[in-house]
Parts: sequence; structure tokens; C-alpha cells
Amino acid sequence: MTALREIELECPVCRRRFASRAVASSDALGGRRTDFREFAEGTQPLPFFMHMCPRCGYTGAERDYAPDVEVTEALRERVWVELAPLARRAPVTGSEKYEAAAKVAEWQGLEPRHVADLLLRAAWCCVDEGDVEAERFFRRKAAWAFEKALESWDGVAREERAVLTYLVGELWRRVGDQALARGWFDKVQAEVIDPATQQWVMDAARQQRDCPREWFG
Ligand SMILES: [Zn+2]
Repeated sequence: MTALREIELECPVCRRRFASRAVASSDALGGRRTDFREFAEGTQPLPFFMHMCPRCGYTGAERDYAPDVEVTEALRERVWVELAPLARRAPVTGSEKYEAAAKVAEWQGLEPRHVADLLLRAAWCCVDEGDVEAERFFRRKAAWAFEKALESWDGVAREERAVLTYLVGELWRRVGDQALARGWFDKVQAEVIDPATQQWVMDAARQQRDCPREWFG
């Protein structure tokens, strides 16, 4: 079960104070998909990890509203121009919040890895929203962002490269591009640095390449 609580936030862009619902506790009893999406029983917590300012549209996690968060004039302007129109036609969906958060992260110049995580969660929200087209759109964008992170020499920790290489393959598989998926699954083995603890990633890559499954376990 997911339990929610109300939190008070102050927007670092426009200083508006507003209440938002956040996750107090959740579980993963609903299982885990082969793209690492975990499901809770009952209400899914994902949309409640992101908060959109109802005035200017600035969006982020609770920590992105901390008092020490600094906002440049360029960021403030982009938020007002590109996100405020969305915020005004509330209520916004979970995927819209993650998309907005990914834009803010990009405008702040945060790492592709971080942007990729947000885009992946936008895709996961689309699954719950029953929007197949948008789900594929965000899976593609997430795959490209993870690829960009893997390309930069310090974009991904060495011990995480195998699992993210697998994930890119799985994203392309779920988009429906089997050839691209296969290429990425085949690269997983070369990224493994500790076969003892990473055997499962190699197994998962082989399984999703040869005989794919929707769920782990
Ligand atoms: Zn605001």
C-alpha cells in the first residue's frame, strides 16, 4: 500500500508557497518488470515523488525545493515560458510532471544519467495512464539519454555500466526495435566487471534477447 502525506513547498523560481501530496511510504509487492519498474499494491507512488508549482510550472522532487536550491535567471525564464502554460491547466498527470522535471534538469545542465532516470519514470507513468504512444516516446527519449550517459567517460559509474547497457536494450525492446535491442543486449557481457555479483545481468540480457519476459521473478 502507498501512503501519502501533504507537504508544504516554496517554489525557488516564483516563491509561491503551495501544498502538494508526497509519498509517506510504499512497497514493491506488486512485482518488478524487466525494465526495473516496481509496482506497489493499490495506488502507485510514482506521480507523488514529483511536485509542480501551480504558478510557474517549476517541477522537481522534494529536495529540488530545498532552501539552498539556486535558480539562474536563464532557468527562471525558460520555466515561465515553457512550463507555466502547462501548470495553469491543472491537474497535470504523472508523466507530465516527470517530463517537466526532465526539462528543468536539462536546463540546469544536470547529467544525462539524471535526465534519463526522469524520462524513464515518465514512460512508467504512461503505462499507468494507458497512453501507449507517449510511453514509447518517453522510452525512446530515455534510451537516448542513457546512451549519452554511457558515451561520456565518467557519465556512469563503472559498476553500473552493465546494468544500464541492459536497460537500454530493454527500452528498445519495449519500443519494438528488436535489432537495436539485440545490439545492446550483446554488449552487456563486455561491461561486466565482477561476474560473481553481475551474473544476473548477463542472464537477464540473454533472456530478454532470446526469450523475453515482462516480469522478473
Ligand atoms: Zn513557481
